[in-house]
Amino acid sequence: MVDAEPLDAVVIGAGFAGLYMMYRLREDGFSVHGFERGDGVGGTWYWNRYPGARCDSEIMYYSFSFLPDLEQEWPLTERYPGQPEILRYLEEVADRLDLRKDFTLGAEVTALEFDEASGRWTLRTAQGHEATARYVVTAVGCLSAANQPAFPGAESFGGVTLHTGNWPRDPVDLAGKRVAVIGTGASGIQSIPVIAEQAAHVTVFQRTAQFTIPAENGPLDEQFVALWKQNYPEWRRRARHSAAGFPYHPSVTSAFEVSEAERRATFEAAWGAGGFTFLSGTFRDLVLDEAANDTAAEFVRKKIDEIVRDPQVAEMLKPRDFPIGTKRLPLDTNYYVTFNRPNVTLVDLKRTPVEEITATGIRTSAGHHDLDVIVYATGFDALTGPLEALGIRGRGGRSLRDAWREGPRTYLGVAVPGFPNLFTITGPGSPSVLSNMPVSIEQHVEWIGEFLSWARERPAGVIEATEQAAADWTDHVQQVAGHTLHPQAASWYMGANIPGKPRIFLPYLGGVGAYRDRCSAVAANGYEGFVLSGEESGLPGERSGDHVTRPGDHRAA
Ligand SMILES: Cc1cc2nc3c(=O)[nH]c(=O)nc-3n(C[C@H](O)[C@H](O)[C@H](O)COP(=O)(O)OP(=O)(O)OC[C@H]3O[C@@H](n4cnc5c(N)ncnc54)[C@H](O)[C@@H]3O)c2cc1C
Repeated sequence: MVDAEPLDAVVIGAGFAGLYMMYRLREDGFSVHGFERGDGVGGTWYWNRYPGARCDSEIMYYSFSFLPDLEQEWPLTERYPGQPEILRYLEEVADRLDLRKDFTLGAEVTALEFDEASGRWTLRTAQGHEATARYVVTAVGCLSAANQPAFPGAESFGGVTLHTGNWPRDPVDLAGKRVAVIGTGASGIQSIPVIAEQAAHVTVFQRTAQFTIPAENGPLDEQFVALWKQNYPEWRRRARHSAAGFPYHPSVTSAFEVSEAERRATFEAAWGAGGFTFLSGTFRDLVLDEAANDTAAEFVRKKIDEIVRDPQVAEMLKPRDFPIGTKRLPLDTNYYVTFNRPNVTLVDLKRTPVEEITATGIRTSAGHHDLDVIVYATGFDALTGPLEALGIRGRGGRSLRDAWREGPRTYLGVAVPGFPNLFTITGPGSPSVLSNMPVSIEQHVEWIGEFLSWARERPAGVIEATEQAAADWTDHVQQVAGHTLHPQAASWYMGANIPGKPRIFLPYLGGVGAYRDRCSAVAANGYEGFVLSGEESGLPGERSGDHVTRPGDHRAA
């Protein structure tokens, strides 16, 4: 085994989730160490530095609620903060809480093995670090495993290849370049208008036309900010008990309770205001009822006709094969209008698929596009991808990948039977990507922290979700999704963007508030659905000593 002393816990990842989990466990007296693949903290906002990268949650509530001083001091500049600003925020959090010393950076976890005799996990990184710990908390994010499609000949391309989810730290100069953007999901939609302003020419390779709603980004009014800051506790409380972690009430009106003219005026007002209220704030049944959904979808298609001058291009941009809101709804700044620019070409990959990538560009069935840069805006192997990449082996040496061959089975999205003492922040089966994530992350971190403190007081070295609890929860997650239009879309929520991935609805649609209540009830009932076993109790909460072996320092027995 490993030479260093065992830890109480390891945390993997240093984004919103990992930073807060580290702080909670450290403050609660656990010995804990973190491992992060990146050379800096920030997670999503460390990696996604592409032109136009910004948040779709408004700045007022895309932040932690447990830092009241920072909440008051942090400037709320524009409605949707850009990547550099969010990264600065998370770096500030890490510095204020003195968290950097608790993480090993540049350390990619590739193996996590559970030892049934000791009830402990052994962690290994690609860089040669090793550690053993009673508990593992994964804070690896839902959108951190970049999806790189395998086009024939991709490695032969002689120009620059980039992925939005793994953008270089040094700025990339696209001036005068012929750039391809492959993919029109949220990252493509944010980056295409900005790249088009910089590059000589942009060719957009679209597989699926997308609905997108204007962000209407802009500076925030000082008085509005002052008022918001005065009422922060109340906004936070509302977000915690809401459907999606936003502090606003969703609409309670059906799209068919109003006249056609009123409906159009409602959509028009929401379109003008910008943001997600187009879906949640207009009518309550848009993702529940096909006819209601059609009214919103048709409104957006008409907007595309109004905005895009070339009718053929407008037609190609109109989504027709999934209900609006059943794929992640992007917010944009100037997306559709960008296709009026003379330096932008749209290629419909359904009509003219990619045949190969060559040394000088991309060949589709309609011809060759000469290129200097290829940008993959092809998203992520969402939710399960980052977890399966950890090389997790639980009881009997069974891999998580194998256990999830038919799709992930979790209890509350935080625990997996057969993988004791392992907790997954925003894992599959939790509200995660269907919510304003800092709200969900805080709830998970606090719940896991309280659970571990509770277990420390008891003679229980091993905590494990039961098969039955996980089966019931997984069924419930699918049933809730089945009451909506979501399963109709070939979305990444369904795993449909990754060849061979099981088609199962990954996040929990039951709402952030209801989910929180359920987790609280589980805790109040003595953590029902979990079995606690093993003689060894109470972790000593050691806080000193060398708990991690570093590269060149292993003396594995
Ligand atoms: C472009 C973009 C825009 C987004 N906009 C919004 C938004 O508007 N609102 C919203 O709520 N959410 C948004 N999200 C989701 C966003 O991921 C979350 O809001 C939040 O940042 C997640 O924090 P996290 O700590 O859970 O995960 P992450 O920020 O993804 O951090 C996970 C960390 O784990 C590390 N890691 C992963 N695997 C390993 C490994 N094997 N070994 C070591 N380290 C590992 C990663 O390097 C990463 O740093 C967006 C995501 C993207 C990609």
